[in-house]
Amino acid sequence: MNQLDSARVGAALQRAGHQLVTTEREAECVLVNTCTVTAEAERKSRQIARSAGRRVPRLAVMGCGPKVAPLQWHEAVPGGSVFTDDNVLLSSFNVKPEEPVPLAPTRRARQHVAVQMGCDNRCTFCITRSARGAHQSLPADAIVEQVRALEAQGVNEVVLTGINLAAWGAENSNREREARLHTLLETLLHKTTIPRIRLSSLGPQYLHPPFFDLLAEPRICAYLHLSVQSGSPSVLQRMGRGHGREEVVRAVEAARRVRPEVALAADIIAGFPGETEAEHAETRALIQRLRFAKLHLFPYSPRAGTVASDLTEQISPAEKKRRTADLRALGNRLRHAFIAGQMGTRQIVLVEGRENGLTGHYLRVRTPGAPKGALVEMVLTSENLMEPEAPATFRPEEYERPC
Ligand code: SF4
Repeated sequence: MNQLDSARVGAALQRAGHQLVTTEREAECVLVNTCTVTAEAERKSRQIARSAGRRVPRLAVMGCGPKVAPLQWHEAVPGGSVFTDDNVLLSSFNVKPEEPVPLAPTRRARQHVAVQMGCDNRCTFCITRSARGAHQSLPADAIVEQVRALEAQGVNEVVLTGINLAAWGAENSNREREARLHTLLETLLHKTTIPRIRLSSLGPQYLHPPFFDLLAEPRICAYLHLSVQSGSPSVLQRMGRGHGREEVVRAVEAARRVRPEVALAADIIAGFPGETEAEHAETRALIQRLRFAKLHLFPYSPRAGTVASDLTEQISPAEKKRRTADLRALGNRLRHAFIAGQMGTRQIVLVEGRENGLTGHYLRVRTPGAPKGALVEMVLTSENLMEPEAPATFRPEEYERPC
C-alpha cells in the first residue's frame, strides 16, 4: 500500500510538471513516504528522513508516520514539511488534488492494485488502523478499469491489495458476513482478460463458501496468504482478532478441497504479551496441522499507542527470540516439504526480470532467456528453483516425523 501511495503521489506530481529523479544529488526536494507498522519501521523512516534532510534543499514527509504522531515528526525533521494529508501535500506542490490521476505506465511485470483502504477493527497490537482511517472498498468498476489499463500495458499479473483486503464489500470491516471479495473476483474474471490475479493477505473470517468456489479458477493464483497471527484461541481473543482458530482451519480446508495444490502462507506473531508456553505450543500445533508452505514470522514488537503495548505481561526479548526460532525451524521443515512436493510439476512462471520469475504459488525460479513480463511454462527442477530453502534431495521420511 505504501508503494502504491508513493506511485500515486509521484504520478500526480509528474502530471503537474515536476520531474522525478532517481538520486538525491539531482533532487531539489526529497519526499519521504514513512511507514509506522512497527517501531522499527518508524525508526528507519526517521533515519532516512533526517539523513535526506541534511543533503537536499527541501524535505517533505508524508504517510502513516505523521498521521499517527505529527508532533514527533515535526520535532524529528526541524525545517522539513510534515504532511498528515496527501491533498494538502499535493496543493503545496501546486497540484490540484481533486483531479483523479491515472497511474504512470509501469515497468513491473506484476502490478499491485489497491482495492480496499483502512480498517474498522481493533486488533490490540495494531497501529495501522489509526494511520489508515476507516475501511473503504473501492468501486468494482474503477478496479476493472485499472486492471484493463494494466492489461493494455502488457501486465500479466495483478496483486489485489488492501489494508484489510478480504473485508472488501462490507460496509464496516467488523461485519464479516457482508464481505464479498468473491464478487469482485468474479467481476474481474468476467470483465478483464488479465491472465493472473494474486491476492495479498486475507483475514480468514471474511472468506465465505463462494470465495472458495471461485478459487478453483486457474487465473487466480494458487497461493493464499492468511492473516493468522496465533494458533491459540485465548491469544487470538487477547489480540482482538475477530476470528478464532476454527475460522483458520475452515479456510485452509476449504481452499485445499477446491485447489489441492494451493500454497498457504500465514502471518504469525510470536511472544504476544502474556503468551504462555502452552499457548505457544497451540500455535506450533496449528502450523504443523495445517502444513503452511510459508510463514511470515514476527516476534511481537510493542508499538506505542496500542492496547497490547500497555499490557504488563510482556515476554522477554530472549524468550520471544526462542519462540520465533522454534516456529521458524518448523516453518522451514514444512516449506521444504511443500517445495519437494512441487518438484517435477509443470508450472506457469511470470518472468520478472534478471532471468527469474514466480510460479503461481510463489516459488522463485530461473528463467534464462525468457523475456521480462512473459508467462512461460516450466517443469520445476532443483536446477531452476531459486528458493534458498529448497532441499538438495528429497527424502519423504523426513517430512512424516511428528514435530
Ligand atoms: S485487521 Fe487488525 S491487524 Fe489488520 S489492519 Fe485491521 S486492526 Fe490492524
